[in-house]
Amino acid sequence: MPVTLLEWSVPAAILLCAIGLGGARFLGFDTLRWAGALGSLGTGYAFMLVQASELSPYKQVVEDAFILGGVMLACRALQSRRRRQPPPYIDVAILLASTAMVIVSIVLFASVKLETFFVQACCALVIWRTTFSFSRQVVTTSDKVLAAAFLFIALVLTGQCILYLAAPTPYLPLGEWRTSVWGTLIQYTGLLGSIVLTFAVFMATSYDAIERYRHQAHTDALTGLLNRRGLDSLLASVSRRPFPDAAVPTALIMADIDNFKRINDVFGHAFGDRVLARFGALLRSEADGHICAARLGGEEFLLLLPAENLEAAAATAEQIRTNFFAQRWAPHAPNSCFTASMGVTLVQAGEPVASAMKRADDLLYEAKRRGRNCTVASAAADDPVHGLSEKSCQATILVAKP
Ligand code: GH3
Ligand code: MG
Ligand code: MG
Repeated sequence: MPVTLLEWSVPAAILLCAIGLGGARFLGFDTLRWAGALGSLGTGYAFMLVQASELSPYKQVVEDAFILGGVMLACRALQSRRRRQPPPYIDVAILLASTAMVIVSIVLFASVKLETFFVQACCALVIWRTTFSFSRQVVTTSDKVLAAAFLFIALVLTGQCILYLAAPTPYLPLGEWRTSVWGTLIQYTGLLGSIVLTFAVFMATSYDAIERYRHQAHTDALTGLLNRRGLDSLLASVSRRPFPDAAVPTALIMADIDNFKRINDVFGHAFGDRVLARFGALLRSEADGHICAARLGGEEFLLLLPAENLEAAAATAEQIRTNFFAQRWAPHAPNSCFTASMGVTLVQAGEPVASAMKRADDLLYEAKRRGRNCTVASAAADDPVHGLSEKSCQATILVAKP
């Protein structure tokens, strides 16, 4: 029976999905591997419709290799998201075993049903293996979307294999199998799987791109810390939950590099950038388990961290301050030490973070007023103000010319 237009529509639709995914590569999406997988799958389905009984069993071997190869490429595309590929010899072994079973089915048993069952079972096996190993390392929402799509395809294939085993089927000669219910079933489940996968890949890659741009928009390029927009967005998201955590108080440290304008003037703007980057790195590394570290703008920084009490928070601020002072700036400024001032407070239970930020800013201003290079701390608006390391204030504001 000649192949109808409707039958050709199945490989054509799968190949269209592949072309769509390949085209998305030119828009900056990382979809080339997925396009290759669907391209191989669509080619296999197209071969299936070619009527050439004289080429049996080579035709079946080629079409099944394309289908199973496509499934394996899709699994590798999924695993590449974790940068961990399973060794290729497992895929090669499954492909060889499947080819052997296809030849036995066609040559010894003259059964397309058996051939189809073996190939479907191998596809299901490969997809289950990948779905299990990938699901254990799901991190992002896009990972979840792709894992769900793979699970769906694995379930459909497994259901189809069980149906092949359980349902009684009349003997069908090689030429008639394609137009039977079984032949139609395999064509349309292949199409369904390809469409589900294409949607999942587009959703996942679009979501990845949105997350990437959101991260860039929320990150300060110089220090890698949150920028003002990132901080606002984080605070907006935590304000929907009880904040601060009732069990551990949250401390807020406001830091500002002293006389930074002079550093720029004396050593140049590029060197000033280096100082900012190093201060950002110190802020992050000195405050283990911090909630967030942000560059508010210019040379002003903020650190939110869990702290037992005000003393512990002030001790962290002091550690950052003294560590910054101890930095050496060879070769550009080998004889210079730079300093920073700190304002430290606690975010009171139920208090808006913005109000604690205002208090920390006032405390920072107080540190500047006391001569810079010191930490000034106070737990709440009416609490006493503690000045730390005031002695060193007088001696250590050093910006020497090179
Ligand atoms: P104070 O001790 O009172 O804080 O004085 P200051 O000089 O540190 O503060 P001021 O606000 O007078 O100067 C901040 C300077 O920071 C001015 C601006 O040119 C510089 N600045 C802002 N952003 C950047 C940046 O991204 N890179 C560099 N290199 N400099 C910056
Ligand atoms: Mg400053
Ligand atoms: Mg400033």
